[in-house]
Amino acid sequence: MTVDAQAQPFKFVGGALCLDFVNSLGGRRRPPAGRRRRGGAILREKLLGYEELLVWSRLSGAVTEREAAALARMARRRGSAARAVFARAFRLREAIYQIFAAVLEGRAPRKADLATLNRELAIARGRERLHFADQQWVWRWDGEETALDRPLWPVAQSAAALLASPALGRVRECPGERCGWLFLDQSKNRSRQWCAMRDCGNLAKVRRFRARRAVAG
Ligand SMILES: [Zn+2]
Repeated sequence: MTVDAQAQPFKFVGGALCLDFVNSLGGRRRPPAGRRRRGGAILREKLLGYEELLVWSRLSGAVTEREAAALARMARRRGSAARAVFARAFRLREAIYQIFAAVLEGRAPRKADLATLNRELAIARGRERLHFADQQWVWRWDGEETALDRPLWPVAQSAAALLASPALGRVRECPGERCGWLFLDQSKNRSRQWCAMRDCGNLAKVRRFRARRAVAG
């Protein structure tokens, strides 16, 4: 697997690992206001298979370079197992997105979405091991270089930690028309509106400018 930093399609503007995972797609359609029972449908997918999942995981820091290389070798040997893990990753990402979409609208999450997150969380927690090394106690993952689902563990934990933390009130959804990315507003006065000003914010500016020019004739 080669990872070209220039060509890599993923951006990390979410401020939390689970939100960056939700943002590992090009964008989502915005359902009309007031008619939102579910979050928006996916417009452009970037997470196309297990290999892309590993690229995202390495770039996000969910796995180390060494782990990613070991997992890539294993995925080549165990193709169907890697595909099954990818299907789980896809379900987990959708569940996390739908849960946060529900939170943002003051709705209760769907049971199926919460069950998906809890299932992955139980697997992740079952892999945690307490180690004593260099006079210090540290949490480590068991089998980190041999378990194909290793990239999902920190994502599930990140979602659980954020949902149960005061920072949940700072989660926002980008209002860009074809975006739907989620992020943590960590600005002091809680004024962050866009996923990344260079993308959605600029597009909105250009649209406002064109609209004003059209009115001015
Ligand atoms: Zn956006």
